Amino acid sequence: MMVGYGSEGYAVPFLPRPNSVAATIDGSVGLLIRIFGEGSRRLAQLDAGDSVLLLGPLGVGFDLGQAPRKVLCVAGGVGLAPFILLPRWAREALPDAEVHVLYGERDAAAVFDAGKLRELTGIDAEIWTEDGSLGRKGRITDGLELGDIDLVLACGPTPMLKAVRELALDSGTACQLAVEEHMACGMGTCIGCIVETVDPTTGEQRYARACIEGPVFRAEQLPW
Ligand SMILES: Cc1cc2nc3c(=O)[nH]c(=O)nc-3n(C[C@H](O)[C@H](O)[C@H](O)COP(=O)(O)OP(=O)(O)OC[C@H]3O[C@@H](n4cnc5c(N)ncnc54)[C@H](O)[C@@H]3O)c2cc1C
Repeated sequence: MMVGYGSEGYAVPFLPRPNSVAATIDGSVGLLIRIFGEGSRRLAQLDAGDSVLLLGPLGVGFDLGQAPRKVLCVAGGVGLAPFILLPRWAREALPDAEVHVLYGERDAAAVFDAGKLRELTGIDAEIWTEDGSLGRKGRITDGLELGDIDLVLACGPTPMLKAVRELALDSGTACQLAVEEHMACGMGTCIGCIVETVDPTTGEQRYARACIEGPVFRAEQLPW
């Protein structure tokens, strides 16, 4: 969660904005920022030496705990951010595992530099654009088959997450989804980011705070 301080002397925008840790380089944290509104614009315009208040890491992230052999990361738009760091992290934790990244955007103009992505992740992501202006044409979940994948991780717009979830549940593939909820406090206090969840064992439904109990949930926990 990050907030910048304006020349006005108070935090602008007032509420922090959630961001993924996209890279850790020489003790620094790297972010991938897509400009939506005032908060992301201010972050993208920071200069070296500017101050920001950073709170984190917060919440529950992706978990490679079950030693999967083949991991598929499905990234929609700026949902790419966590999958910049994850392939290197996975290679360190699970040297024998294969990690693949599917990355979809609306069009070529929105696609993060493929060369830079290869340099940062150490792998070639399979790029999709909805209009076919770069990479494969269509939605990233078009024709997606999970086959011999042991674990699928997804981050991106909710319709994409829902499609990945359905495919994973149908094929019995372990699946974790990072939900895109607006967040305010990041500490579970404001109850601004609740998502409906279900306990897969008992069937009990309850609301969870995405900022501390998420944003990553297992597919079976989300009753979509
Ligand atoms: C867990 C998590 C991790 C994230 N990681 C990143 C990241 O690494 N890089 C990045 O660029 N963005 C990331 N986002 C999205 C980012 O938080 C929003 O883009 C940001 O809050 C927008 O703030 P703003 O002040 O620029 O825009 P605002 O003025 O607050 O909003 C501008 C427009 O964007 C929409 N919007 C705002 N927040 C979101 C959101 N979370 N999801 C969908 N639409 C939204 C608003 O409805 C509005 O239409 C993440 C979001 C979550 C929940």
